[in-house]
Amino acid sequence: MRDACLVCGISQAQKRLGICPVCYARTCRDHAFRRSGKHFCSEECAAMFFYGTGEDEEEETEQ
Ligand SMILES: [Zn+2]
Ligand SMILES: [Zn+2]
Repeated sequence: MRDACLVCGISQAQKRLGICPVCYARTCRDHAFRRSGKHFCSEECAAMFFYGTGEDEEEETEQ
């Protein structure tokens, strides 16, 4: 498993990396995309996480 930032390639030893919950890519703080306190590798993954891959979505019923 790669232990380096997806974007700049910095290693976990040099900088703290976060793991994207969608694609499991690692990114450093500078290259992470944060939303709602979660750490994603990209805006695309954040969108995927929140707007869904179609499974187990909560139904929002707005009146
Ligand atoms: Zn980086
Ligand atoms: Zn990702």
